Amino acid sequence: MKGVFVVGAGPAGLFAARQIALAGYDVFLFNRDIKPGGLAEYGIYPTKDKMKSGLRKQFAKVLELPNVHYFGGVQVGKSYDLTIEELEAMRPAAIVFACGAQASGQLGLPGEDAKGVYAAKDFVYYYNGLPPYSTMDFSTGRRVVITGIGNVAIDIAHWLLEDSPSHTQLEEVVVVARRGPMEAKFDEKEIGYVDKHISRADLVAELDRVKERCARCNQDVSPENLFQQSFRKLQDPNFVSVPPRLSFRFLTSPTQIFKDENGRVARVEVAENDLVLRPDGDTKAVATKERTILEADTLIYAIGNRQDPNIGLPMGRDGFATEPASGNSEEPHFKLWNTEAGQAIPGRFVVGWARRASTGLVGIARHDGELGAEQAIEYVKNEPERNTLNADGIMAELKKKGLNPATKANCGLVA
Ligand SMILES: Cc1cc2nc3c(=O)[nH]c(=O)nc-3n(C[C@H](O)[C@H](O)[C@H](O)COP(=O)(O)OP(=O)(O)OC[C@H]3O[C@@H](n4cnc5c(N)ncnc54)[C@H](O)[C@@H]3O)c2cc1C
Repeated sequence: MKGVFVVGAGPAGLFAARQIALAGYDVFLFNRDIKPGGLAEYGIYPTKDKMKSGLRKQFAKVLELPNVHYFGGVQVGKSYDLTIEELEAMRPAAIVFACGAQASGQLGLPGEDAKGVYAAKDFVYYYNGLPPYSTMDFSTGRRVVITGIGNVAIDIAHWLLEDSPSHTQLEEVVVVARRGPMEAKFDEKEIGYVDKHISRADLVAELDRVKERCARCNQDVSPENLFQQSFRKLQDPNFVSVPPRLSFRFLTSPTQIFKDENGRVARVEVAENDLVLRPDGDTKAVATKERTILEADTLIYAIGNRQDPNIGLPMGRDGFATEPASGNSEEPHFKLWNTEAGQAIPGRFVVGWARRASTGLVGIARHDGELGAEQAIEYVKNEPERNTLNADGIMAELKKKGLNPATKANCGLVA
């Protein structure tokens, strides 16, 4: 048998598995979580039921394919349950890595070990019920600072403001952005869930505070312009906000965290930034010497994730190393790259957020998984027979290691 192993059963891994199975090969999925779905299950906002159940149906169809085999609760990597060498000893014809971006972006600031400092990914896993995060302490208090201004930051603000069990004690969520309001990365739909919590007077004052620094980069951040671009509901003259408050602080980067007597976040020191135009027309934030203190009991980093170096795959500049693009080609490259030898590692592919962290929605991860799977299929076609272990053989190997993997039957995926 020429079996293909897929590491990670989020959207990218599941749709890669489907493609490979439909090409006639047996696929063996190894997934850290018991339940398949990745961030589609444990990232997407809890109340987006329709979207989540639609995706579960599609994932269940993948697992229904008779030549797709599932091992849940198996974390692959040099520091985890099963090393890549142990996987290779089971003789796969190819391995597709679809394990997402599991290292949390943190800034390495003094005081970051304070209670109440969380990575967005872990916080989102917590409120979406992923063990072990679901039972860990992710308590929040009256004032939460979120650093980052993309969809994930807004999703977290949404949960804190409206759905968290402690939202009634919450006074304010402050979204802190390194650059200005023009560089906000959230979608209109996402901000539409929370804009009712924004105080128009506060936002107008904040825009006024940063307008000169933004104007140096030819940005018009007047309320008239900005409300039309990013905060449409605030254009309504009858707009009235509701508590708790959502506010924004632009051109601001956290620099230090101060703890209270219990070791919890008490204050966050932030730097005021200048906005500078780069030669390519983009902007960058440059910290000034000016510092301000924000009162807060919680700080959440929503500044993107990176691929997990503890898996043991070669790391490149932006995560797992993949074949460098040639010339100006925009074509995606899925082959895992040996950075020391300067060549592709035969039969090893990387797809989805494991290839490019924090980019795009489920549809993009699916497409990426399918494109990468095509390359894996082409590779396997030309490979000799491998006598890959079958599902029973793999299960026996995993049990020998003391693991008790979930299978299709008990992985909890109910369409
Ligand atoms: C907060 C948040 C909200 C989002 N909301 C939306 C939305 O509303 N709509 C939308 O379309 N998209 C949304 N997305 C984006 C979407 O979730 C991603 O595009 C998609 O899940 C990425 O798929 P992936 O398979 O590459 O990675 P993931 O979904 O991260 O899947 C990775 C899988 O690999 C497994 N894994 C990790 N490490 C290992 C290991 N070492 N060994 C074995 N298995 C491993 C994990 O258990 C997981 O199952 C959201 C993302 C976030 C973070």
